[in-house]
Amino acid sequence: MPQATPADRNDVAQTGALAPAISLHEVTKHFYKRGTRITALSNVSLHIARGSFVSIVGPSGCGKSTILDLVVGTERPSSGSVYCGGETVSSLRVGTGYLTQHDTLLPWRSVEQNVRLPLDIKSGGLARLTGRTSDPAAAERVAWAINLVGLKGFEHHLPDELSGGMRKRAALAQTLVYAGETVLMDEPFGALDFQMRLLMQAELLQIWSTERRTIVFVTHDIEEAIVLSDEVVIMSRRPGRVRDIVPIDLPRPRDPVNARFDPRFHELYQRIWNQLDPPENAPPRTAAHNGLSARSARQ
Ligand code: ADP
Repeated sequence: MPQATPADRNDVAQTGALAPAISLHEVTKHFYKRGTRITALSNVSLHIARGSFVSIVGPSGCGKSTILDLVVGTERPSSGSVYCGGETVSSLRVGTGYLTQHDTLLPWRSVEQNVRLPLDIKSGGLARLTGRTSDPAAAERVAWAINLVGLKGFEHHLPDELSGGMRKRAALAQTLVYAGETVLMDEPFGALDFQMRLLMQAELLQIWSTERRTIVFVTHDIEEAIVLSDEVVIMSRRPGRVRDIVPIDLPRPRDPVNARFDPRFHELYQRIWNQLDPPENAPPRTAAHNGLSARSARQ
């Protein structure tokens, strides 16, 4: 489970069976834009246990996506260090799954060919992107991923022939097919309508409980964070810092709809909401805002 860093744990944390899947140690990240320095993250420390499901919430621009970019290795910390799978992250980690809000399905490739794309790229470069490859191990893995997300029978459909939820499932299969132990998700269900989101949350929980990979899930949606997670990391507004880490003690297995009716869900919602900074330029909080959590949780 992630914890605000006790410094003495850091040194031992990277070795042995107890090593967390992901660790950030006193990470600060600056970006430079037209000569101006933007501090996205300031002194962030976080430990995420293997096989756990951890969500990160916070106002826009507080550095949530930057954390994922640091873990996958597309960005480097300005200071501090990032570990994943027991190693310092020093370059792109191709085995770390990364699913974003906008899927990258190619319209001219079938579901099966899209899901296989990362394996084609990994194994042979452009010649294999024609869809003519027949590696039996790859074919088996692709079939496994398609089955896992419930798209068996739709292998030969093109993305345009799928509903929003099915496209999202195909994108999830495409991620799972190459991902090792760690999967990063950046608002993956943000573009779906509410009902489809609930279905995808249920689907994801089912897959996670079978697979037990480590999932780090960025979302704006407190309810989504609570129903999915073992712990919710609350970030302050930019420069992002870890404000609190809330353990989610709702029983598992969880149904994402029924979990919302658990009285404990309301308490957790209130605790997270009360610590969440409003977005930049938001009107000041009023008594009505403060009552929002209880109301939202009841809806
Ligand atoms: P969040 O995911 O919480 O919305 P981000 O991690 O995307 O926040 O961004 C944090 C801050 O860093 C924002 O102010 C954003 O504009 C800035 N930022 C992120 N990536 C870059 C970049 N490549 N260049 C310049 N600024 C960036």
